[in-house]
Amino acid sequence: MAKARELIEQGGVVPLRGRVCRTVSSDGERTYLTAPEACNCPAGLKARFVCFHRVAVILAAA
Ligand SMILES: [Zn+2]
Repeated sequence: MAKARELIEQGGVVPLRGRVCRTVSSDGERTYLTAPEACNCPAGLKARFVCFHRVAVILAAA
């Protein structure tokens, strides 16, 4: 949760189309495509938990 808020505050969540956003990885070197339902980061692809990118997108959209 804290990571997600940080990402938003640092401008790491950029809305693209619809509810899809471009998000920045925690080391700032990569970007991912994230929607509230899915994310293409390594953690998101495993889909074992909701990664903080998705949390950030959900928070940013709220
Ligand atoms: Zn992710």
